[in-house]
Amino acid sequence: MKILVTGGAGYIGSHMVRTLGESGHDVVVYDNLSTGFRESVLYGRLVKADLADMTAMDELFSHEKFDAVAHFAAHIVVDESVREPVKYYRNNFSNALNLVEACLRHGVNTFLFSSTAAVYGMPVAVPVSEEAPLVPINPYGWSKRMVEQVLQDVSHASGLRYVSLRYFNVAGADAETRLGQKYKDATHLITVSLRTALGLRKELNIFGTDYDTPDGTCVRDYIHVDDLINAHILALDYLSKGKPSRVFNCGYGHGYSVREVVEKVKQVTEIDFAVQEAGRREGDPSVIVADSDRIKRELGWMPKYDDLDYIIRTAWAWEQKLHGTL
Ligand code: UDP
Repeated sequence: MKILVTGGAGYIGSHMVRTLGESGHDVVVYDNLSTGFRESVLYGRLVKADLADMTAMDELFSHEKFDAVAHFAAHIVVDESVREPVKYYRNNFSNALNLVEACLRHGVNTFLFSSTAAVYGMPVAVPVSEEAPLVPINPYGWSKRMVEQVLQDVSHASGLRYVSLRYFNVAGADAETRLGQKYKDATHLITVSLRTALGLRKELNIFGTDYDTPDGTCVRDYIHVDDLINAHILALDYLSKGKPSRVFNCGYGHGYSVREVVEKVKQVTEIDFAVQEAGRREGDPSVIVADSDRIKRELGWMPKYDDLDYIIRTAWAWEQKLHGTL
């Protein structure tokens, strides 16, 4: 297949490009390199352009006949979205709308969307299923929720079919240490903890110790990036069989607290870095864990790396390589 991967130079998108390339697909990456890196694109060709640029998109779509679009390009920092909502609505919503419009105009009818568990907000029941109410509690979650609505309506009104994958907490890196989280201002717990272990940060802040959870810190469902990519491949296969649009959670169905993750990072790195208890971060739900029955049942998804130790080990190898200490 010929597949357009937006955000293919970023963390998750670059793993998708690697897997598609390795399977012999023809890949075009569309990325403005705002948070992505040219050298992370291991296969295909990179078009450096912005999704706000309809002319650039129209030109690309008129020259290439894509069988599918996988849309990864987005901003992903929850508390930044609270401070700068317009940035999130512009890039995550408005630019996604441009992309969907380009697909409609050029007859591309297969669409994979990177959604998020943040669409559920503060879930009323955990594990959270796809049928749970969608009440985001931050602009990041709303920006993704709004794209899901667009896709639902467009799919109803046209021949476009989509799969929306609601990611839980994606972590880990390519087993051969070619790819990983590269963004220097990364804010995610595992990356920040590893960078603290490397001495690149003075201490790790635990944001909130008074949550209604067993140890007072937030609980998240951490999923290895390669299991997530496999879910995308299965979703692509599902859509190419002509199946209807569908939404799937992508998580393992169990969670770890912030304290548990930090302990595991110390164990894997064998470095006892400084940890500071801090106040809550804005926009954080206390517990979010996936009910992943649907994707297992309907796509036959079988996670291979449901192991926090492996997740952290691959991320640790990557961080060491990235910072020249391996
Ligand atoms: N977290 C933390 N310290 C950090 C980064 C994150 O305590 O330096 C917490 C954060 O408050 C949340 C959990 O770790 O409870 C996971 O946050 P992350 O940013 O990794 O992902 P999110 O769940 O926001 O998508």
